Amino acid sequence: MTTHSLLLLPGDGIGPEVMAQVERVIAFFGKRGKASFKTETALVGGAAYDKHGVAVTDETVAKAQTVDAILFGSVGGPKWDKVAYEHRPEAGLLRLRKDLDLFANLRPAICYPALAEASSLKRELVEGLDILILRELTGGTYFGEPKEIVTLENGQRRGVDTTVYTTGEIERIARVAFDLARKRSGKVHSAEKRNVMVTGLLWNQVVTALHAKEGQGIKLEHILADACAMQLVRNPKQFDVIVCDNLFGDMLSDEAAMLTGSIGMLPSASLGAPDPKTGKRKALYEPVHGSAPDIAGQGSANPIAAIASYGMALRYSCDMPHEADMIDKAIAGTLARGFRTSDIMQPNMRKVGTADMGTAILEELATVAK
Ligand code: NAD
Repeated sequence: MTTHSLLLLPGDGIGPEVMAQVERVIAFFGKRGKASFKTETALVGGAAYDKHGVAVTDETVAKAQTVDAILFGSVGGPKWDKVAYEHRPEAGLLRLRKDLDLFANLRPAICYPALAEASSLKRELVEGLDILILRELTGGTYFGEPKEIVTLENGQRRGVDTTVYTTGEIERIARVAFDLARKRSGKVHSAEKRNVMVTGLLWNQVVTALHAKEGQGIKLEHILADACAMQLVRNPKQFDVIVCDNLFGDMLSDEAAMLTGSIGMLPSASLGAPDPKTGKRKALYEPVHGSAPDIAGQGSANPIAAIASYGMALRYSCDMPHEADMIDKAIAGTLARGFRTSDIMQPNMRKVGTADMGTAILEELATVAK
């Protein structure tokens, strides 16, 4: 039987609360006997700073390099607002992304039928929506040099960000897009601004060339990033996989997220390159939401994003797509039965806390497993 190693990094605020529910779901799949899970837990973010003086220790990063998947909760909170910039809680997550070279960020936007009313769009536009935004995470405008504010001779100040991409960086993210699309509907939209940015022009050329070489069976369409933003609110179901750079991905994934209702519902994955020997990718899975200090400690946080993130780990790191589908079905079933945490509460539904939502999903999993 295969054993999958998981490093759990619950972090701060509601992170440990939602991770406790993830552990129950891991135990459920461990008991089913198809695969076993070896878990280890470590501190990250403010919790790591309080104990070790850094947002993540070298030891934890070394461990993260060796496991099949990292399950991350959330970091940050007002308690650490005055901590030195390099030791702020978020630095722990950024170091993990950088040291593990997690360049591919997957953000699914799924609209469960039971929550279609919570979207800002009409039900018919979003019901059954299932799209995947693939964002390049380690290059582009957020990391390009120079990145500076300089004072000019005339006394004005000038801020500079540099957008820079190499062929290799574009190829590797486009390859991930094609691989993902093969397991879905086979359709990829590549979004850039080739009309006004040379990085957009290069992006378009490289994606087109890679498609000709490696994109058998994939239908590729190019779209300007601003048109993509518009189409996402006009007719989101026309999309399946959307691949884009770091900056546009940041915007488009947040826009797509809001189509689905609540931030407490959204999982994500960040993947590295496949290991040349094993083919396995380094991978970190986390809910999109933060540590929600306003509700931390109340037992009211929605654990669905964290549980769905574990579902993504089953799909992309453990080669257990059937079990990942079971989690998606169990979440849909739980919502259809009327269970709601306060963030997704609707009239005549049953309001539950974090642990009760976890219990309801486990009950539904048991039914789905039959
Ligand atoms: P947030 O996502 O923590 O919270 C935004 C709002 O959504 C809050 O009202 C919160 O109560 C609610 N919310 C979030 N997750 C929820 C859940 N699972 N269930 C129910 N309600 C939920 O964003 P924020 O308030 O901007 O940031 C709070 C802290 O989290 C900050 O320190 C920020 O830096 C940090 N943060 C961390 C990450 C991360 O760890 N990846 C991401 C975003 C923000």
